Amino acid sequence: MNGAILLERLGDRLAGLRGRMTLDAGMDKVTWFRAGGPADVLFQPADEEDLAAFLRAVPEDIPVSMVGIGSNLLVRDGGIRGFVVRLSAKGFGQAEAVSPTQIRAGASIPDKRLAAVALEAGIGGFHFYHGIPGGLGGALRMNAGANGVETRERVVEVRALDRRGELHVLSNAEMGYAYRHSDAPKDLIFTSALMQGYAEDRTTIQADMDAVQHHRETVQPIREKTGGSTFKNPPGTSAWKEVDKAGCRGLMIGGAQMSPMHCNFMINTGTATGYDLEFLGETVRARVLEHSGIRLDWEIKRVGTFRAGHEIDPFLGQML
Ligand SMILES: Cc1cc2nc3c(=O)[nH]c(=O)nc-3n(C[C@H](O)[C@H](O)[C@H](O)COP(=O)(O)OP(=O)(O)OC[C@H]3O[C@@H](n4cnc5c(N)ncnc54)[C@H](O)[C@@H]3O)c2cc1C
Repeated sequence: MNGAILLERLGDRLAGLRGRMTLDAGMDKVTWFRAGGPADVLFQPADEEDLAAFLRAVPEDIPVSMVGIGSNLLVRDGGIRGFVVRLSAKGFGQAEAVSPTQIRAGASIPDKRLAAVALEAGIGGFHFYHGIPGGLGGALRMNAGANGVETRERVVEVRALDRRGELHVLSNAEMGYAYRHSDAPKDLIFTSALMQGYAEDRTTIQADMDAVQHHRETVQPIREKTGGSTFKNPPGTSAWKEVDKAGCRGLMIGGAQMSPMHCNFMINTGTATGYDLEFLGETVRARVLEHSGIRLDWEIKRVGTFRAGHEIDPFLGQML
């Protein structure tokens, strides 16, 4: 189904929404990888009320998925069926200190901005967000973390809408956090969160943020088209070590490459398709399995449909 057909099917059900609809929206313009096919319709709700009205209006058999800043997403070349929601900066991008140690923030705020708000307020514990290029919604879903801190250590409660547009407020325990994972129901769209830090002087916070930035600049290809860490660290070892030992540092398929600088980062060297990137990732998984018997799990979220004739078997180990 393409965007025009989808909207025609819905008739005037969506009349009155204030957000922006983009038909056949190129996800290569949205994701950090700068690759992948179009979403049938990209919807950017004006605010939480508009999002709830949208979710109530769209019949449940039509898929609705969520994209944040797109720094952890690999979109397949066939694109994404149905609606993709992206929270607007205006309606969901604010953050303010609500007590000497707590911040309430909208889910589209970039992590870097959240770190800056915490610095201004003299609230410690948010410096790690200075180095993560995503937004708060993605951080809440992925339990994003760095420099020994994870999102779960900061979350007090999260506001979310379900597929029917009903509001939920989830406690930290209800978010069901584990390493780079939340067990919160998949259909939930997080709209804002109350976050907990601790009082700290601004000089210390600034120094921590500078250290985060310096570390990134030296060990990660942060100016490339990438999705960050491709695979989760397996128990007892680091994904990059296993990728390296299996001889995959710098490995290239089409325009996709395992970064020579940080070999758990996959990069689009300029012409990579979603297929190139996913095929490269599965090839690395297969080689690591063969070399060390370890099954690497993707950290990057792969979404959408394959282009016809370009399907990839998950974990194509046995074929190679
Ligand atoms: C250079 C680079 C460095 C990185 N370094 C790190 C790092 O140190 N630590 C780390 O943890 N990650 C890192 N990442 C990965 C990425 O930045 C994080 O996972 C980030 O939290 C993703 O946020 P996003 O807004 O880009 O989410 P997206 O990539 O857009 O989406 C990720 C997932 O979150 C879901 N999602 C997004 N917004 C919402 C919402 N509002 N409600 C519900 N679900 C939502 C999406 O559906 C998807 O499943 C890095 C990425 C890059 C490119």
